[in-house]
Amino acid sequence: MVGKAARGFWLCALLVALAACTSVGTHTRERLAIDYGPPMPLRVCVLHTPDVAPRRIDALIAAVNEEFASYGITVVVPWVRPWQRAGFTHERLFEDVAQRRLEVPCDRLVAFVDRNAGDALWGLLMPEVLGMVDEATHTRGYVVATRASLNQLFVPPSKATVHEFYHLLGCPHAGSMDACYRAIAALKRAHDASADFVPGIDAAGGFVTTREDANQTLRDALAGRPGM
Ligand SMILES: [Zn+2]
Repeated sequence: MVGKAARGFWLCALLVALAACTSVGTHTRERLAIDYGPPMPLRVCVLHTPDVAPRRIDALIAAVNEEFASYGITVVVPWVRPWQRAGFTHERLFEDVAQRRLEVPCDRLVAFVDRNAGDALWGLLMPEVLGMVDEATHTRGYVVATRASLNQLFVPPSKATVHEFYHLLGCPHAGSMDACYRAIAALKRAHDASADFVPGIDAAGGFVTTREDANQTLRDALAGRPGM
């Protein structure tokens, strides 16, 4: 039996979280020097809380597509479904998204979450989290999509969304984007255009090549099974 505190700590260790001070790095000249290969659609299925309007989601996805155009990646949204936020803490929110299966044709699953007064208060008490992506497969995540706190004056939802979507491509937190560019090029090389899935990326940087494996790997990680 794992205590609540220990479980919380363990979950934090599993996640790549965006607090106000973290970054996937600043752009460098490498960005244009790397061959990213042919165009690749990334199918991201979307859950959203009632306060995040569909046009807001469209705007956030458009910001990602503007950013990803250099890599020949276009985010396509097969479906958008309403979703009730599962709880108050970021860990609880994330767990709910992570426990959902990736279904055909989704390559990734992202929840867009509204802020509420409780969250804004939370932000005064501890470094605020504006999104998370799972580290075991980099296929599931959530993004805070509305503004209600001081931190978000500095990290607007469009920037938080782009940041989390970089994690969905396997990009780490870093000072420069160089490792991220290489990760994106490697992911595109690993993608089989005839397959129906853009591989996930495991915690060691290896590829999770099927949707079934991505589901199983994340289920195992959430269950705390060894070997993850
Ligand atoms: Zn991050």
